[in-house]
Order: sequence, then C-alpha cells, then structure tokens
Amino acid sequence: MIWNEEFETLPREALQALQLKRLQHQIERVHAAVPYYRNKMAEAGVKPSDIKSLKDLRKLPFTTKEDLRLNYPFGLFAVPFERVVRIHASSGTTGKPTVVGYTKRDIDSWAELMARTLSCGGAHQGDVVHNAYGYGLFTGGLGAHYGAERLGAAVIPISGGNSKRQIMIMQDFGSTVLMCTPSYALNLADVMKEMDVDPSSLKLRVGLFGAEPWSENMREEIQKRLNLKAIDIFGLSEVMGPGVASECVEEQHGLHIFEDYFLPEIVDPKTMEPLPPGEHGELVFTTLTKEAFPVIRYRTKDISRLIAEPCSCGRTFYRMERITGRTDDMLIIRGVNVFPSQIEHVLMSIEGVEPHYLIIVDREGSLDVIEVQVEVSENIFSDEVKVLEKLGKKIEREIKDLLGISCKVKLVEPKTIQRSEGKAKRVIDNRKL
Ligand code: ADP
Ligand code: ZN
Repeated sequence: MIWNEEFETLPREALQALQLKRLQHQIERVHAAVPYYRNKMAEAGVKPSDIKSLKDLRKLPFTTKEDLRLNYPFGLFAVPFERVVRIHASSGTTGKPTVVGYTKRDIDSWAELMARTLSCGGAHQGDVVHNAYGYGLFTGGLGAHYGAERLGAAVIPISGGNSKRQIMIMQDFGSTVLMCTPSYALNLADVMKEMDVDPSSLKLRVGLFGAEPWSENMREEIQKRLNLKAIDIFGLSEVMGPGVASECVEEQHGLHIFEDYFLPEIVDPKTMEPLPPGEHGELVFTTLTKEAFPVIRYRTKDISRLIAEPCSCGRTFYRMERITGRTDDMLIIRGVNVFPSQIEHVLMSIEGVEPHYLIIVDREGSLDVIEVQVEVSENIFSDEVKVLEKLGKKIEREIKDLLGISCKVKLVEPKTIQRSEGKAKRVIDNRKL
C-alpha cells in the first residue's frame, strides 16, 4: 500500500516544482543560519538567489564527513539549540562519530518517512513489528520505532542482542515484521536452527533490512531461511537516518528515494560531475525540509546508480540500485579495486559455504596479500580433508576469475567467525596499521 498517495505518486513535473521551491527555501535558511555553509558558498561564489532551477544545484559546494567533523559536535545545526529535541550520532564505522540533531518537525517528517518505508515493504496497521535495530545513538532503532507507531502497527522495541530471547518473543508475540541489519537476520536464522525452531512456524511475513551492504544472493538466503520477503531499506544519519529510500514489495528491485524530502545526485567520484540516471557513481544528497541539521550535496561515499524507469508499484520516485560498495571501503589489492561485496557474491554462489566471512588484508614486503576466512557447513567440515581442500581451491579460483586477484581461502568451522548484532565487520585491513 502507498502510505502517502498524494506525494509518492506525484507526476515528475509537479515533484520537480516542489523540489525547487523547497530547495530554494532550504538554501536561504542554511545560508542565513550556518556561518560555515555561508563561507563555503561565498568561496564557491554562489548566493542563494543563484538557485533558479534544479540544475543550479551543481553550483553549490559539496559537503563531506570531514566538514561535519570540523564542526563537531553542533557547529552545523541550523536552528537555535532550544529547538533541538533529539540528538543522534553515526555508529562511526569509519572513525569519529558525526552528530546530528532534529527539531520536533524533523522527528515528525522522519516518522512519516519510516511509515512510508514500512508500507512500501508491505507492512500495515495490525502488524507486529519486531524492531531489532539498535536503540541508542544509532538512528536505526528509534527511526524504525517511530515509523512503526505512525503506521499504526504494534512495535516491539527489542533492540539488538540476546537472540534466543528474540526468537522466544517472536513465537509468543507473533511478530510479523522483522527489522534489523541483514547480517543480524542471518544470525537469528542460525540461532533458530540451533533452537530447533522451524521458521515456518513463526508469523514473520516481511523483513526490512538495511544499514549495511548486502547482496542479492544474501537476500535469497535470508528469504529462504527465515521464510519471509526481504526488503532493502537505506538511510544514513547525516541525511536523516533510515527512511531515505526503500524497495517496494512489488518489485524488490531498486530503492525508491523519497524525493520530496531528499534531492539525490549521482556524481563521478573523480571529476565530481553529476551523471545521468543509469550511470554508476557516488550518491549525493541534499535535504529539502530538514530544520535542525540540513545538508547540502552531502557525499555519501556510497556507490549506486539512479533508475528513472517507472515502477509497477505506482510510485513516481526514482529508484537507486542497491549499494554496491563505498568509495572508501574499496580495497585496492595489488592495484586491483575490490569491493567486499564482490567477494561476498562469489562466496554466496558456492554450495557448502555459509554467509559468514572475514577478509583480512596484509602486506608482505611490498606485496598485498589477502586472506578470506569463511565458514563451511557442518557436514562439509566433518568430511575428509581432501573435500575441504578442493572447496578452498574452488573458491580461490572463482575469486581469481571474477576479480583477477589471487587470495588465500581459509575454511573455518561453523560459528567461529564473530557474529554481529548490528553492522557486521567484514574487513580487517592490517596494511594501515
Ligand atoms: P556510519 O555507518 O557511517 O556510522 P550510519 O550508521 O548512518 O553511519 O550508516 C550509513 C551508511 O550505512 C550508509 O552511508 C551506507 O554506507 C550504509 N547503508 C545503510 N543502509 C544500507 C543499505 N540498505 N545497503 C547498503 N548500505 C547501507
Ligand atoms: Zn516500486
């Protein structure tokens, strides 16, 4: 069901007119309220009145995580502090946390966006939303929580961790919608198996998974093992938190960006020139309504492309392809660009391999070496050494074929790679130390 029919199905022309009006207003406000942005705009030689069309967006300077860090913690807030009612901080996967704030109206918009997200994924009033995203500074937990309440569903604020208890609650409370990271969803599937709980005995119907990259193969695995429809949802704290884009249950292909709130661009990460729909590049967002923490052309470092083709669900918002990597988690192994997601893709296409892996990069002399540790299924592990060896070699060969790099594959016992309760850590790069 479409939560907000009026806005989610706006004809593109009307949408663009709305975007322009909101953009102009937002830039004026930011220019007046935030000295840092005002200075950056002056340096770039652009004034708010120069924004006469959506195309003029490209005149504005980009904002990066570094800008946020320089203004730590509240330097980029665009309202008097008395109007801030909530503070979150990013989980800091890539270093120091960045701090974001919300006014009452921002929290209200966020709830609306997450209600849309849930609805887009097929959830509705009457559902029991099992919210295993972490509650706390991380935006996932509370973001999903407010959205589920706005939707009219019953939300279980279980947060992450204590998987056995999670499964007991799912059984007893009849959870129908699961929200967590995709890696934690698999973790839950493992624990279910251990506990001898048959997923088809549960009421789970749909899962809204995000906050970290995952592959199409991983989706299939999750759908099969948890007996639900797995939906990809996207967001980042700098822009709002979850609720920036979501797949629709009809297509499960590409995530509709809530373009009445966020203006997306894809830019070439080298030249910084905007690219047309269809082309891969770095995803950049400008917020259109945010009060406390607006961002202008925020560089996400996430790689995607825009899909402009109409969608069968009826939403007119462009879709973004699932994130294929980040410009900054890209590993360069002996000169070859490698995304962890590509290695995952290979692993998940091989029979007998479990979706738990760790990539360890090191340097021997001047040579980069890469080891992929991956769990194998119980029956293979207890098989002959020869079988294991053969499997290891097969994975090495397939990685070499697809990515052009040699690596060492180490098959490890089931359940030896540390499980995540939030974002999984997939790469250890010892070269930087
Ligand atoms: P950080 O991870 O930098 O601490 P956040 O917790 O806000 O900050 O996470 C935002 C990032 O998480 C995004 O920029 C993106 O890299 C990743 N992410 C979020 N949702 C998805 C998704 N559905 N698919 C892939 N990556 C995602
Ligand atoms: Zn759709």
